[in-house]
Amino acid sequence: MTFVITSGCCNDTSCIPVCPVQCIRPRPGDPDFSTTEQLYIDPATCIDCGACMDECPVSAIHTEWDLPEHLDDYLGINAAYFETNPISESSPPDPIRRRLPADRGRLSVAIVGSGPAGCYAAAELSEIEGVSVSVFERLPTPFGLVRTGVAPDHGNTKLIAKRFGSVLNRPNVRCFFNVEVGVHVSLPELLEHHHAVVWSGGASNDRRLGIPGEDLPGCVSARELVAWYNGHPDFGERRFNLDGPTAVVIGNGNVAFDVARILAQPAASHQSTDMAEHAIEALSRSTISDVIVTGRRGPEFAAYTTGELSGLHHTENVALVARPEEVASVSASTDRRGLILADAAARHRAEGERSITLRYDLRPESINGDGAVESVSFRRPDDTIETIEAPLVVRAIGYRGMPVEGLPFNERSGTLQHLAGSVCDPETDESVVGVYCTGWIKRGANGMIGTNKVDSAETVDSILHDFGAGRLPNPAHDGEQLEKLIRTRQPDLVDKEGWTRIDQTERSLGRKSGRPRQKLVHVQDLVAASHPRDT
Ligand code: FAD
Ligand code: NAP
Repeated sequence: MTFVITSGCCNDTSCIPVCPVQCIRPRPGDPDFSTTEQLYIDPATCIDCGACMDECPVSAIHTEWDLPEHLDDYLGINAAYFETNPISESSPPDPIRRRLPADRGRLSVAIVGSGPAGCYAAAELSEIEGVSVSVFERLPTPFGLVRTGVAPDHGNTKLIAKRFGSVLNRPNVRCFFNVEVGVHVSLPELLEHHHAVVWSGGASNDRRLGIPGEDLPGCVSARELVAWYNGHPDFGERRFNLDGPTAVVIGNGNVAFDVARILAQPAASHQSTDMAEHAIEALSRSTISDVIVTGRRGPEFAAYTTGELSGLHHTENVALVARPEEVASVSASTDRRGLILADAAARHRAEGERSITLRYDLRPESINGDGAVESVSFRRPDDTIETIEAPLVVRAIGYRGMPVEGLPFNERSGTLQHLAGSVCDPETDESVVGVYCTGWIKRGANGMIGTNKVDSAETVDSILHDFGAGRLPNPAHDGEQLEKLIRTRQPDLVDKEGWTRIDQTERSLGRKSGRPRQKLVHVQDLVAASHPRDT
């Protein structure tokens, strides 16, 4: 008997240190760790103890005999990894025990952004004796894209919020939610109250296609659509043209697949998720029946993961369709991707049937329409143009970080300039004293939730190194003074207790309709729910 890691693995690596026989790969430091789609368990080495399953924050690990039917190929997927990557080193990774230097006193760190990167940084730092952490979040709710990005039908993935919540609840972590750094408090002010500031604000913009017609109404970014269906307060009032029968998604990554699944499924399937009410209501009136996902290259170059392709294949009430000639380079293979694409290529869509159609080698050329999107044109490899009629075109070609006032920014990659997480001037490599970064603003908009763990660990090591070397001056003021200052500027500050009340309110609203939570979308409603109830 063996345990099996399945789709939904967030590469967080919590399972690795608890495995007594070290049968999980790849591990941080392994050559393929930064590019792996997921982690794998070697069935030949697993001793069936279950420690990894207990530790997994997103419930992605199952016993072999308890694999849900739609995940049964993961037994083979796990085993296949070790055919080409046999285990040669089975000693456990050295546990990292970080300490402050005895002669330097306490260390205080402000973290800007409470997404995965900020939460992992808070986790690493708050474990160290003598460190205090203040987390700043511009929304009244924490966890970044775990709440506002991860698809509502990926409920297990959202379970990671529980792990992050327990970090934020540690006694040496303070939370300042509904506080935007740059609006309610400035970066220099944070530095006056802390030894260091970690910027983990994520990527709040998106890449552009740079083709004619991109700004026509009806051509939208996946970022906006995703934030809308996930109840991000900034997008509650957005409206999208859901008049079908066709919607086109440009891009071939996991976000493109999320959007395609959400648009193609009947609205009833969203009723049991935490999707925002306004989105369920709008989707129930949608007449979209076919979502065409287009890649500019062939399927062998697709950015989506095998797990997400498999998820699309298993989407209830939605047929997955492809064109045999466009997937030939992959469909001949007997691996999981090949089998799925071969199956999709053999599938014929009945008129009006709900479907997701995978198309390849279509390079976007122009978005067309008179005052609003009517169609989108693509250039094919033989230089011919193909035009697909659709009133909704979603570009899912990647998110992009935005500059932060006063910090060096790389326009090309959309990231802060840094060395191992220490923000620095690119000309001189000289660091901006006390300022660090992690997550999507550090390495670009790529990687799973767990990818940010290793990233944040690197940044924390840089902070500790600089603190130990005496490079971080003691702050002029303490945290109490900062809280007073912020409360004068943002009376609607939401603290840990306030967030707990919001969380309880949303869960209790959700319970009434059999959902994990019913999200409050407007900031004023969230703030109202954060207040103690009159007794
Ligand atoms: P974010 O999660 O974006 O967090 C940044 C936070 O900073 C936000 O809360 C923001 O409000 C806050 N902030 C920004 N500016 C300020 C400021 N000035 N002051 C205060 N706060 C500020 N990975 C998976 O493993 N599984 C999935 O299913 C999955 N689904 C995804 C779906 C989508 C649509 C996307 C886009 C990504 C998905 N990912 C998934 C990837 C994962 O979400 C990212 O790796 C991760 O969220 C990046 O973390 P981050 O902390 O850098 O950024
Ligand atoms: P991504 O993985 O980088 O994919 C972007 C896609 O857009 C690629 O297919 C790329 O094609 C295409 N593209 C870029 N520029 C284009 C252009 N000008 N014209 C046409 N196509 C273009 O980005 P993402 O999908 O936004 O995902 C971001 C990260 O979040 C990824 O690491 C992803 O795995 C993660 N995520 C994970 C999950 C999950 O685990 N379930 C869900 C969502 C997101 P080329 O390859 O040709 O450049």
